[in-house]
Amino acid sequence: MIRPVEILKSVFGYDSFRQNQEEIIEHALADQDALVIMPTGGGKSICFQIPAIIKPNLTLVISPLISLMKDQVESIRANGVDVAYYNSSMTDSQRLEVRRNAVENKIKLLYLSPETLISSIDWIKQLKIDMIAVDEAHCVSMWGHDFRPEYQQIGELRKHFKNKPMLAFTATADKITRKDISEKLSLQNPTVFISSFDRPNLSLAVRSQVPKKDKQKEVVNFIKSRGVESGIIYCLSRKETEEWSNYLNSRGISSRYYHAGMPAAERDAVQEGFINDSYDVICATIAFGMGIDKSNVRWVIHNNLPKNIEGFYQEIGRAGRDGMPSETILYFNYRDVVLQKDFVKESDIKEVYHEKINRMLQYAESSSCRRRILLAYFGEHLTEDCGNCDICDSPPIFIDGTVIAQKALSAASRTNQSVGINLLVNVLRGAQTMDIFEQNLHQIKTYGAGKEYSFKQWQHFINQLINLGAFEIAYDDNMKLKVTSLGDAILKGNQEIKLPQYEEKDLTSGKKKKSSNKQADDDVVTALKLWRKEKAAENKVPAYVILHDNSVDEIAKFLPADLEALQNIQGLGKVKIQRFGAEIISIVQEKGNKKISTYQKTLNLYRSGLKLDQIAEARNLSSTTILNHLIKLYEEGKRINLYDFITEFEIQQVKTVRTKLSNTYQLKPIHDELKGELPYEKISVAIAILDGHH
Ligand code: ADP
Ligand code: ZN
Repeated sequence: MIRPVEILKSVFGYDSFRQNQEEIIEHALADQDALVIMPTGGGKSICFQIPAIIKPNLTLVISPLISLMKDQVESIRANGVDVAYYNSSMTDSQRLEVRRNAVENKIKLLYLSPETLISSIDWIKQLKIDMIAVDEAHCVSMWGHDFRPEYQQIGELRKHFKNKPMLAFTATADKITRKDISEKLSLQNPTVFISSFDRPNLSLAVRSQVPKKDKQKEVVNFIKSRGVESGIIYCLSRKETEEWSNYLNSRGISSRYYHAGMPAAERDAVQEGFINDSYDVICATIAFGMGIDKSNVRWVIHNNLPKNIEGFYQEIGRAGRDGMPSETILYFNYRDVVLQKDFVKESDIKEVYHEKINRMLQYAESSSCRRRILLAYFGEHLTEDCGNCDICDSPPIFIDGTVIAQKALSAASRTNQSVGINLLVNVLRGAQTMDIFEQNLHQIKTYGAGKEYSFKQWQHFINQLINLGAFEIAYDDNMKLKVTSLGDAILKGNQEIKLPQYEEKDLTSGKKKKSSNKQADDDVVTALKLWRKEKAAENKVPAYVILHDNSVDEIAKFLPADLEALQNIQGLGKVKIQRFGAEIISIVQEKGNKKISTYQKTLNLYRSGLKLDQIAEARNLSSTTILNHLIKLYEEGKRINLYDFITEFEIQQVKTVRTKLSNTYQLKPIHDELKGELPYEKISVAIAILDGHH
């Protein structure tokens, strides 16, 4: 029998399984039932697709969303697997054909919606079925967040195929739902596979209290610094989605909006356009995203604080499903809390909602690793900080904040705790604004007592005092700042407090971006994406079905010269190489050729044993240029001994300085910091070694 890992390579083009995938596949091949809990993007599909390919007869896949079904079927079909879907959106003759193919055992997987399942049960019973996979299995449970009555019928289906394995898949973590799924689907002694909810490829960042204008500028700079990539901006209100979209379009970023107030046909068109990369950014309410399976969303921005961590996690989870580095940024404002609490004020279980909002706030306000907080919410505990959130990137430096705190607390008390954050800052800075004079705030003793800090700095300090519990916001009373008992103790000098220093953050200089794209050839990326888009239109499938983002990236990095070299590219199975390989190679040759040949020449001379100067002389290039070639070749994985060009001591020098400069890739700051002692090319060599591409 052909091994699962061979199919993973030959059909899907991947080298190794992710957590639990192989075990689940083996389990299915042994005809055992299973309940699989995996986060969005964890790679559920392969778990039933590979056993389906191996088993002789048909696998039924029950999936709730017709749009999702179509995309999934197209994705796997592009890898050369015979599959079909069957639902109410098809014409009679299309359906007839699918039925014929199913009866004649010409397809490996048949995707069905639960509704069609019920109406088709008679002919389905006639089929030779080897396995049943139930996607989004939480839909069977009333406890789940997306109950669908039709799902209850799946248990019925089970009775007809008693001896066939059933695999249920869900991303829902909670225990009641899990138990319910097992019962409602009549799973037989199912093994439960739980994957980690950690999505290490998603970076996490939070920006608090950023005024609208600044936020707009920041977001535009962020998007532009990322180039042509797909992203989602989630907003609380319909109006905001339209505002954002218009703003982005006016800044030359192609964007559309999406919310429940639009006619269904228009919504579908917008969604379709996003999936097909006909524009880059979608500005949407949380109504958007349920039915989409776009693997190359590179970033998700939240314009407001979400109402709970479950929702937030699901929304950011729509980024980076292909496993490539992707970014998430949450903008929040204390006003959002008021809005969210307002939405639920009539509810019987208001307290529960409030608690959830508070947990969300904890994430937003954290001054320790954010991923730890997220995962702890789902009951997982990381043993180390993640290294991929804004806090880990630049851990706050704490300073003695007692005097700062006393000034703020005292000013708040002297206003009789009747002001919000911004007005308090104005009082501290001695600003001459209308509301100050109207409320006679210029008369109080602490007016202007904090002139030494800027508006932003004060805002930051006060936010931190709220986090640390010295202030409390009265959400039900115009967001006034109230002094807590901790605040009182600080004010009286009975308690000292440390505050994180204020730091200006620059979102455009994300280190992830630089490290991930450092080696990729931009011309090749652009050309491949353009080609991919044309192919996609021709074949009427989304662009990522033709070529995943990570495949594009790898091709641009390794510039494969022939079909054989293409086999090393992740995400390219045999069928895709056969269909598209020649075209891809010719794009690489056209766009990347100059670079290949010059590097290749240097490599050949290096391999023949020449020294740096000799290569330079032979090629009539400077030795700096040759050294740069060698660095690039080294980064591509070629065997180059960079230690010939630098001493251990010099590497350590660069390491120390670079750590201080938050691991920059820029040479000049390092050069300056070392007072010009080390030439630029040595710094490059050191960085290549330190980043350890081997
Ligand atoms: P979900 O669990 O959300 O259904 P998918 O099955 O759609 O996730 O998989 C998400 C992405 O991960 C897809 O682009 C898929 O091709 C990719 N993927 C799945 N398994 C692997 C693997 N073992 N190696 C690399 N990529 C994988
Ligand atoms: Zn972290």
